[in-house]
Amino acid sequence: MLYRWLTHLYRAGLISTLCGSLVAVQAAYAEQSGDSDNQEVLVAELAEDESVEDVEHSEPLQSPEPGSDEPDAIDAPGKDAPEESVSSEQPEKKEEATSLKLLGAEVAPGKSTRLSWSPAIQIAGLSQPTPVLVINGAKPGPNLCLTGAVHGDELNGIEIIRRTMYDLEPDKLSGRVIGVPIVNLPGFQRGSRYLPDRRDLNRHFPGSTDGSLADRIAHSLFESVIRHCDMLVDIHTGSLKRTNLPQLRADMNNSDVARLTRGFDRMAVVHSTGSAGMLRHAAVEAGIPSVTMEAGESLRIQEHQIRAGVNSLTSLLDKEGMISRMFVWGDPEPVYYDSEWVRAEQGGILFSEIKLGDKVSEGEILGYVSDPITNEQHPIRARSGGRIIGMAVDQVVMAGFATYHVGTEAEVPGE
Ligand SMILES: [Zn+2]
Repeated sequence: MLYRWLTHLYRAGLISTLCGSLVAVQAAYAEQSGDSDNQEVLVAELAEDESVEDVEHSEPLQSPEPGSDEPDAIDAPGKDAPEESVSSEQPEKKEEATSLKLLGAEVAPGKSTRLSWSPAIQIAGLSQPTPVLVINGAKPGPNLCLTGAVHGDELNGIEIIRRTMYDLEPDKLSGRVIGVPIVNLPGFQRGSRYLPDRRDLNRHFPGSTDGSLADRIAHSLFESVIRHCDMLVDIHTGSLKRTNLPQLRADMNNSDVARLTRGFDRMAVVHSTGSAGMLRHAAVEAGIPSVTMEAGESLRIQEHQIRAGVNSLTSLLDKEGMISRMFVWGDPEPVYYDSEWVRAEQGGILFSEIKLGDKVSEGEILGYVSDPITNEQHPIRARSGGRIIGMAVDQVVMAGFATYHVGTEAEVPGE
């Protein structure tokens, strides 16, 4: 029964996978909310919430002094220079498009197809391959990789990848686009951020062959897919009732990464080196310029956020010379931010006074934490002026909960 359902799911493809499992996602979520043990675990796990930890304070940039003969930020002290990057400006000048060999298949130029990746950690007879969408352009160019749902409950990225990829025409594309819309398929089916062993996959890259389940899955994805990428966009959402303005997290001290961010129209870009174990961090260490794209909140499909993500990826494809867009509108530049999370000082119920994307000034009240028993109202104020690039939705919070992510416009390094 289960097996038949799974087979059907796989055959029916991504769209119905998404629709079918949304029900499962909701059901699983409802189940979790009722379970007090689970609740405790969730609260404990807030401590290692990527959305917060990744950019709790964006670190100062190490831009070289003007006139110093330090050639490039990538040589900054403390960074092991990765062995000669596979992928800086133009990966290798390919005269003609060639077949792409990936996951045991060979995809001819001008073709798109669906491959499958199996991390080989399941019971062989029940193993459920993870779909990988591949478009090999008729013309030569770089390999762009898109990954979604590394956290299984983050749905916006799945739809961003579907729309972006199904809009591309293989005979007009220069280069290849490789998309893994649902990296954490077991998590996706349970409506969970985590793997079945309750580990956060985005803490285990590049992984290893003899470690935990998460290490093995990470290693398999990294070796069989990610190493084929010349650039990577890993798409996430805010976690656990936090929402993010569409934005990139990028290590702006790395000149190849900084260059990559310039392709994203109208995106907010927050500087963050990321921490060890994150997919983008591991990929950058391996010489693959990578960014995390954050859009909206988990367990939801948000049209506005999805559109912003698709537009931005389309502009990247254009700026990388992979497609040519007919129309460009608006202010086609990314905006760079330094940022800081403001935390609740008291526990209670959070009520926000501002909305995502609002501009705020120093000292402005962003929201209140209301004590439901004593009726005390504790205001939360902005410590600096800027824009709300991420925030918690109204909910019960405890002291220390990261509530508002305030971004201050920053200089673009190297400009
Ligand atoms: Zn995530």
